[in-house]
Amino acid sequence: MKIIKYCSTRGNADLVTSAEAIIKGLAPDGGLYIPNEAIIPFKTTRLPSGDYRNIATIIFRIFLSDYSFAEIENAVLAAYNIDNFDHPLITPLCKLSGDLFVAELWHGPTYAFKDIALQILPYLLRTAVQKKGEKSEIIILTATSGDTGKSALEGFRDVPGTRIIVYFPGNGVSEVQKLQMTTQEGSNVSVTAVKGNFDDTQYGVKKIFNDHKLAIRLANAGYRLSSANSINWGRLLPQIVYYFATYNELVSRGEIKPGDKVNYVVPTGNFGNILAGYYARQLGLPVRKLICAANRNNVLSDFMNSGHYNSRRPLYTTSSPSMDILISSNLERLLYELNGHDPERLSAWMNDLSERGEYRVDEKTLSGIQDLFWSDYADEIETGHAIADIYRNYNYLIDTHTAVGKTVFDKYLSIESEKCPTVLLSTASPFKFAGSVTMALLGCHQYQDKTEIELLDILARETNTTIPVNLAGLNRKPVKHEQAIEPDKMCDHLLSSISLS
Ligand SMILES: *Cc1c(COP(=O)(O)O)cnc(C)c1O
Repeated sequence: MKIIKYCSTRGNADLVTSAEAIIKGLAPDGGLYIPNEAIIPFKTTRLPSGDYRNIATIIFRIFLSDYSFAEIENAVLAAYNIDNFDHPLITPLCKLSGDLFVAELWHGPTYAFKDIALQILPYLLRTAVQKKGEKSEIIILTATSGDTGKSALEGFRDVPGTRIIVYFPGNGVSEVQKLQMTTQEGSNVSVTAVKGNFDDTQYGVKKIFNDHKLAIRLANAGYRLSSANSINWGRLLPQIVYYFATYNELVSRGEIKPGDKVNYVVPTGNFGNILAGYYARQLGLPVRKLICAANRNNVLSDFMNSGHYNSRRPLYTTSSPSMDILISSNLERLLYELNGHDPERLSAWMNDLSERGEYRVDEKTLSGIQDLFWSDYADEIETGHAIADIYRNYNYLIDTHTAVGKTVFDKYLSIESEKCPTVLLSTASPFKFAGSVTMALLGCHQYQDKTEIELLDILARETNTTIPVNLAGLNRKPVKHEQAIEPDKMCDHLLSSISLS
């Protein structure tokens, strides 16, 4: 089997194995790890098939070439089972209308698609630590726009040899998301609100990662930092699997023939989910377009249509908070791939981004992007309408992020007339965003004074559905994490939470 090593997008770090890339998270030169070798695509007639676990094992074996078959299989079996996911298919596909299918990626313990990766990452990381003989305790440092935090907490809680430290933007998450995190149990967990938005929070975390003096101090005390954000290759890799699994499901149901092209619509924030779609396509999955759906924070759709990435704009808090992002970290990986692995060009753009808040790519790069991707955005009103329309027409509930995807897909259809089966990736359960979903369905007036937790009950009652188990008792769980800190105090806080200050 071919050995795959990983290089940094900034070109100033040694090649590493996948185990090392997963332990490190971010490369030491500030870049992101990506496979250094060209990926050999599957033949159309030999796409990975079988159940979810089988497909996962096949994909992981390609990219984790330094893991043994048993190591991969154990991790896959431990993560993707009916105790962790409430559907045997893991990512079931729901047919909405003729050509449109919804892939429900939210059947994991926290009801967002992040669980797909974060249920398995702890196993991949523990195995990596054992393989490398790493003695330090691993601190999983996480900035979250809402869903990663809870998902990482559930994945890593009480995992031996790890601590999980989560920072979330105090005013940037939904009430359900916040309660999910602040009531977290486990002996190795820390959850803290940051007085700022997601970009402030992510900036603070990146600063800690890039602080070499701090890394030495932590190493001397027996700690090492790693990341559960999608900058970690171990977060991205598991997301490739459901592109194949949903395609395979369409073939099995006779909806398409092997080799037929399919569109994927992806509600996008940090560009992790859709980048996994790019890698699936590189692996030979017959993808027509990857449709990149942004919310009102439309920096990505502007970029894909103009080649100008401009983050100098206000960050709005929207009803799809997990996409309220102006710096989409994983775009760096795509640009590096599309430029034939040229770290100098990439570094120049990334320097422009950090110094001036913007960069502009050349025509060739832009047309490379536009060959693969199509992008637009949905505003708040359109998002609300999409939720109401889908419910009225199909008696099917979608959350706000998925509604952004649906809206953008409708815009795509109004321009592209050619018919093509399409999979809309549904990234969260509607109950996770019960407040906005209820408002969209039933109108604001009568529910204005209700809390989001009360709206959970109302949503279930009015739509004749049941609240998912882990959300049902949320307001009766004791709040264990109440601290809120200023963004510039994150490093001090981290040190004190491991008793180093
Ligand atoms: C994280 C998240 C997104 C955005 O995914 P990216 O990989 O950051 O692009 C979309 N929807 C939901 C519900 C999420 O939790």
